[in-house]
Amino acid sequence: MPEHVNFRTVIFAGKQSTIPGSPNILSNPIEYLKGVGPQRADLLKKELGIFTFGDLLELFPYRHVDKTKVNLIRDINAQTEFIQVAGILLNVEVTGDKRSRRLTAQLKDKSGFLELAWFQGITWVQKMLQAGQPYLVYGKVGFFQNRPQIIHPELEIVTQEKQDGKNYLEPVYPTTEKLKVRGLGGRQIGKLTQVLMGMLREKDIPENLPAAIVSQLKFADHFTAIRQIHFPPSPAAYDESVKRLKFEELFMAQLRMNLLRSNRHRFSKGVVFDKVGDYFNTFYRDHLPFQLTAAQKRVVKEIRADTATGKQMNRLLQGDVGSGKTIVALLIMLIAIDNGYQACLMAPTEILAKQHFASLSELLEKQLVSVSLLTGSTRSAPRKKILKELLAGDLKILIGTHAVIEEVVKFKNLGIVIIDEQHRFGVAQRARLWEKAEIPPHVLVMTATPIPRTLAMTAYGDLDYSVIDELPPGRQPVTTVHRYETQRSQVMIFLKAEIDKGRQAYIIFPLIEESDTLDYENLMRGYETVKGYFPEPNYWISMVHGRQPGDQKELNMKRFVERDTQILVSTTVIEVGVNIPNATVMVIESAEKFGLSQLHQLRGRVGRGADKSYCILLSGSKLGNDARERIRIMTTTSNGFEIAEKDLELRGPGDIEGTRQSGILNFKLASIVNDKPLLEIARKMVAGILEKDPDLDSAENLQLKKFLKEQKGNVVWSKIS
Ligand code: ADP
Ligand code: MG
Repeated sequence: MPEHVNFRTVIFAGKQSTIPGSPNILSNPIEYLKGVGPQRADLLKKELGIFTFGDLLELFPYRHVDKTKVNLIRDINAQTEFIQVAGILLNVEVTGDKRSRRLTAQLKDKSGFLELAWFQGITWVQKMLQAGQPYLVYGKVGFFQNRPQIIHPELEIVTQEKQDGKNYLEPVYPTTEKLKVRGLGGRQIGKLTQVLMGMLREKDIPENLPAAIVSQLKFADHFTAIRQIHFPPSPAAYDESVKRLKFEELFMAQLRMNLLRSNRHRFSKGVVFDKVGDYFNTFYRDHLPFQLTAAQKRVVKEIRADTATGKQMNRLLQGDVGSGKTIVALLIMLIAIDNGYQACLMAPTEILAKQHFASLSELLEKQLVSVSLLTGSTRSAPRKKILKELLAGDLKILIGTHAVIEEVVKFKNLGIVIIDEQHRFGVAQRARLWEKAEIPPHVLVMTATPIPRTLAMTAYGDLDYSVIDELPPGRQPVTTVHRYETQRSQVMIFLKAEIDKGRQAYIIFPLIEESDTLDYENLMRGYETVKGYFPEPNYWISMVHGRQPGDQKELNMKRFVERDTQILVSTTVIEVGVNIPNATVMVIESAEKFGLSQLHQLRGRVGRGADKSYCILLSGSKLGNDARERIRIMTTTSNGFEIAEKDLELRGPGDIEGTRQSGILNFKLASIVNDKPLLEIARKMVAGILEKDPDLDSAENLQLKKFLKEQKGNVVWSKIS
């Protein structure tokens, strides 16, 4: 039987309950369950977040033990992981001094002896153990002085009844040491669940899915599925039940998101951009510095169509690094201005906001469009001026950081907000944009952190979706190689050759935590080393990191942009967006410490000009499997979407930036990575249902509607962007 359930997801899964919360037996406080009582109830709440009968029912077992399968102690070998053995318990004794007290016992079966040991709850365990009695013991095998041993085993006295049970699959639940000490080990929790299950009737766990789907997919009904995930009559029945419950999670999540989208399409009010005027046309005809790619043209069309409908646009624009999202943003902003509205472009960092400001100002130079920059470090006089012009409507385009969503920033008539590299902004921050205009502005979220399509459809199912899937012509792929730190001097020789050709190079150091002193020490040491290879006055080096004061950071950056320095030594503050086409080499120090999408982002900083570019991943000699795999992927593909899929496989969806706060991916059972086929089926069925019955008013969908209503607790329905 596969172990579908991941321990952490079960415990911290949040509120993705599949059982509606209307008052019924399942909302009874857990202390009223037979066998619980106030003290255990307290612990269940604190340790596992179980407050009600329903919470207990939704604590799913992470495995089942086939009680009919008992191994011999002799069969334990170095490969054995978990094992179940039966024997007589002997020699229960406490050893060691005060600081390293342990309780040990021997289990004897007809083939040999196995040591059992406890380090916690010794007094209590010792009281419970009955030497001389037959025990069934289960646990993880470890080796101590070459002898097998189980630390903190689960164990119970063998009774006749249990020995007779045929094909008896006993559930094992996630638990904690504190609960174990109170007699609520992984198996004992099942006793409570059994009591609870015995009290429940079918009406307590109603069907949520439409009958047609249940029969079409040959699913067990909801009640049966819940019973069987705890107490399956067979491994096959367990698998079937898990599948059904996973499907339900995926189905409901997508239904909820798609409803948000379809309601927005049908009922929201949005500003209307129905004409293309002089600003756009003049720019397009006279000042566009290059031909748009077909993908850029398509996306501009999609957005134009969307903003002309009178409904609010909420759109995610994905495009790999360097695919040219900025110019798309500018074109859309010009359309907004043509229609008499103001536009706002938000960037996640000050450096990036400044860069956008500089490049857009340059592009708009001849057109007299007013553009200003507002960041945390804008001084008070210019700030006042900006705020005044915004309110009067004289300022057409505002570019900035978080500073633009502060309350004091008020627009005359804001028509669109474009958010660059969205994952640095929380959902709540985005929601504040709504307060800036009577009719909510259109929102375009741009991201270069590729999100696999499957994930995007689920996590951002409420957004419309555009993608620039083409790079501007003439880009040469970046050659990526892996080198060990021992080869550093060769790498530096290569760097020198590139710099002597007039190119520039980045050298990036990891910065895991802003506060991590060790990382800073490495950075400083690295800087000194680089200086050793590239001495002044023939070479000049800039350094940029998060602990520098803003103006120093800016000065160093500026020197690099203006080619006063040939090398930029930096932490990942430059990760997103920076555009310096003359830089052709990206050296990533301690590359094994970076995640895949971060590496991809960093690599995207080079290969932006006409010259051949290189990315060199430097690592230590000891590499874990995941790090080795990440480096292998980086050196074999440059496709951002492929990399995103791999990233998802290696890290799981919980770690993908930007999805964490969405809460949408907190599934108890389902996994976006492993259950793609189910996700696809669910997606199609959701689309089919909403097409026929967008308000879920028909009889067969009423239960769905009720379910969503009861569940909506933690979803902000009106203001999610
Ligand atoms: P990103 O999508 O990563 O934000 P940018 O908008 O910064 O990419 O564009 C990357 C570079 O490509 C910029 O130098 C930009 O001027 C250039 N660029 C964008 N679109 C095109 C195009 N259609 N043809 C040629 N160069 C382009
Ligand atoms: Mg960009």
